[in-house]
Amino acid sequence: MIEWNPWCGCRRVSDGCLNCISPEIKSTSAAGGKIFQTNDFHLPIKRTPERLYRLTYSDNPIYVCTKSDFFIEDADPWRKAVWDIMHFRKDLHFKIITKRIHRFQDCIPKNWGRSYPNVTIVCSCENQKSADERLPHLVDILAAHKEIMLEPLLEKTNVEAYLSSGCIEAVTCSGDSGKKARLCEYSWVMNMREQCVRHDVAFHFKRTGDRFRKDIKIYHIDPSSQIKQAQKADIDYDPQKKEDNKQLIDQTLFHLAKTKYRRQYVLSPKLKEYCRQTGMEKLRRKAFEIVREKVSSPYYKGEGRQTPLDGHPIYIAMHATGTCCRTCLEVWHSIVSGRRLTEKDIIYIVDTIMEWIKRQLEYHIE
Ligand code: SF4
Repeated sequence: MIEWNPWCGCRRVSDGCLNCISPEIKSTSAAGGKIFQTNDFHLPIKRTPERLYRLTYSDNPIYVCTKSDFFIEDADPWRKAVWDIMHFRKDLHFKIITKRIHRFQDCIPKNWGRSYPNVTIVCSCENQKSADERLPHLVDILAAHKEIMLEPLLEKTNVEAYLSSGCIEAVTCSGDSGKKARLCEYSWVMNMREQCVRHDVAFHFKRTGDRFRKDIKIYHIDPSSQIKQAQKADIDYDPQKKEDNKQLIDQTLFHLAKTKYRRQYVLSPKLKEYCRQTGMEKLRRKAFEIVREKVSSPYYKGEGRQTPLDGHPIYIAMHATGTCCRTCLEVWHSIVSGRRLTEKDIIYIVDTIMEWIKRQLEYHIE
């Protein structure tokens, strides 16, 4: 990933700007400092002494204006030259990050047409208010590629209305960094992920930020390990990979259904009614809770007996799908025992359980 800053400096527009890394913002008051062109103004068309372009296809994507806002008014006279460079370097893919999405229509070049195919417009928001102000503009604009960046994520935010438009390709989430870093909660990040999964939009958890709460504990995370910690959570979602997972779940359920032992587990009419009344979303949340409690630790005292045989549809689904204990998880799903389950493992297990329940509700003959 390469950053291209044809200009630097900015003025704050909302709460998300508090810890902005723009040097002019950092060193000056809330009103911001001067906005100036940098020596990198022509970076994508600069050449090496051998006459080769300095930036090549392998540098993609190129993040534009990470230390300013591409649509800031002060840069109006310079922007056309930058559009021309992007149009010329069709082999590069440019990601323009902005909080001033409302200015998009006034700032596009005459030859924009329906879009430059090598440009992604990334709208940055930080809370519900900024999302509701900016994302309707993002949905409305003519652009081939659109993404949402929630960085820093300052509260639980609902963007489903915009994801449901079908035009958003990806959502990126991060916590806050800097001297006055504000808290980011894991539950907000997971909630955002679930919204993306529901609408089949790619999700990337980029960095935790300085202060990160998981369950009841607040972690102070050094800037050098924030990206690593986010990767460790292993919660990125790729709609393409979901297809692979779906196939794996289909195959495993097919083989499980062939065994007499697993076939004996079915939902009674009473439990089916309970599932219908509870709703799949609420059941899914319960499934996360039970899976974390019953099988996520590396060792269990009564291994093999930690999941009750009856009492809740999730328990029955766990026995039917071979996800009831660490031994079954290893045998049926190749999830090795003796290590803590990752978030990705837990999501896969819950997906398997929910798929089984869905099939019971749809197809099972009573
Ligand atoms: S809009 Fe972006 S670059 Fe400008 S002050 Fe806010 S965070 Fe910084």
